[in-house]
Amino acid sequence: MTRRILILGGTGEARRLAAQLVGVGHDVTTSLAGVTTDPLIPEGRVRKGGFGGADGLADYIKSEHFDVVVDATHAYAAQISANAAQAGAHCGVPVLRLERPEWQAGKGDRWLHAADAAEAMARLDEGARVLLTIGRKEVGLFSARTDIGIVARMIEAPQIEVPESWRIILARPPFSLNDEITLMRKEKISVVVSKNAGGAWPAKLEAARQLGLPVIMIARPVKPDVPVYATVEDMAAAVAGE
Ligand code: NAP
Repeated sequence: MTRRILILGGTGEARRLAAQLVGVGHDVTTSLAGVTTDPLIPEGRVRKGGFGGADGLADYIKSEHFDVVVDATHAYAAQISANAAQAGAHCGVPVLRLERPEWQAGKGDRWLHAADAAEAMARLDEGARVLLTIGRKEVGLFSARTDIGIVARMIEAPQIEVPESWRIILARPPFSLNDEITLMRKEKISVVVSKNAGGAWPAKLEAARQLGLPVIMIARPVKPDVPVYATVEDMAAAVAGE
């Protein structure tokens, strides 16, 4: 049976899920936050921009008669996930979350854990050379630390001014192990700061492991208690049953 599905997107998984669901005949709308200038556009219908909080999202779900909402936003996008759970409960529409399992530290890894970006910043030693890979939203915090060197990598330039001493690398993952090792050596990186995005083991963590570098791993925010599926395939099957 054809379902009307709202995917809250902004991730590669959201795009793959949209393609899969459109491919089997569902009526799929993906919502993008609209914060990226040149986003990769998923198959199916696409809308852009905020809804105006949980109430606005509830109004949209009702007016568009969605059967199910899939929260396929990034693991660190906390507000939209909270809004989705609240709006779904209000409308009586199921909300399911697509969430990659976290990366786990293994043999040879030297991970330090931080509850959030502020704690990660506080954990950096004076004189550290940091590879900062936390996206662009929170990098501004780190400019308070004038005693450290920063190489910050993100997909799009930060919306705030950052210190002139920083090197900003604009690039979209994935990266090769060889390139990561070369970058870390060339920039004399002493510590990597990362979010635990999960999914395939990334070259940056493998490079840190091989070079014996510590990684400050920022914990995921707590998300609402809704059914969670780890893969696009499992989510596609679950959606068909809703
Ligand atoms: P957030 O803090 O959870 O959301 C802030 C506000 O942005 C929400 O309240 C909502 O506005 C709007 N919004 C977020 N995602 C939306 C979506 N898919 N469709 C429509 N409105 C959306 O989110 P964020 O951390 O700023 O992330 C924004 C987007 O970038 C998300 O879609 C996320 O998947 C993607 N992303 C985030 C990260 C990250 O590290 N945070 C990394 C990669 C991609 P209203 O309240 O007005 O509805």
